[in-house]
Amino acid sequence: MRYNLRAMFAQRKPRKRTVTFDKVSLPQTLASDLYAQVYALVIREWSAGIPAIMAEYERSLSELTTDTAAEVSGVVSSVEAGAALLAVTVKIRLERWAAQIEAAHRRRWVAAIKRATSIDVAPILSPADMRVPLQTVVERNVVLVSSVNTQAKDRIADAVLRGLSEKKAPREVAKEIRGAVEMGRARALRIASDQTSKVSETLNEERRTEAGLSTWEWVHSGKKHPREDHKARNGKRYDDDAKSGSYKPPAVRPGQLPFCGCTSRAVLSVDSEF
Ligand SMILES: [Zn+2]
Repeated sequence: MRYNLRAMFAQRKPRKRTVTFDKVSLPQTLASDLYAQVYALVIREWSAGIPAIMAEYERSLSELTTDTAAEVSGVVSSVEAGAALLAVTVKIRLERWAAQIEAAHRRRWVAAIKRATSIDVAPILSPADMRVPLQTVVERNVVLVSSVNTQAKDRIADAVLRGLSEKKAPREVAKEIRGAVEMGRARALRIASDQTSKVSETLNEERRTEAGLSTWEWVHSGKKHPREDHKARNGKRYDDDAKSGSYKPPAVRPGQLPFCGCTSRAVLSVDSEF
């Protein structure tokens, strides 16, 4: 706890003893930014590499010798190397995105506190407090970007080598390669959206703990195909300090499972019971 919001609120002798904060949700544009500023670079690199790969494929196909497969693989690898070079800037770009996320979240959290308690915590909060959890988010995304890259490479190399061994028409192989790039793009978009809701929930928890609040309410994502147990938890209250009983939080928290868009909102009670 960096500051005691409950004590600050109690000092005001509020008539309303328990307040529930509005949930803090980040705009979808931040997910689009993550895709556009980071993941799209890798996808673009592969997209741009298609003509070179295809030129090599056509050449190899016309003069099929024993080492042609190796030559086409060489072109695929050179595109991969180009994408890997991006890794240097990927981290810097991710850090920039994380800073944007932190600022957007902080503004909304300050507003949520103000609406619920009339207390302005803006002067207390600092971006530096979130540095450690955000660093973890950045590292995780570095790994995910690299996985998107490797997967695209594997699919493309596979299409090329299979094409050569079956002497497929270039048009057909080109179509498969474009399909591989599209699959990478779709996956990257899903990851960008999922990572944005995950970081949002991480910040919810961190900022809540910092304020000394242990109680929170599960907010279901409202997604089309929900996990039924998550849907059932919507509006249910938990206390991080509860070691047993119905207030004890579940082991897996909101937003942690793959593509779980669930989140939480803070609850402040002046009295110990809510
Ligand atoms: Zn969920």
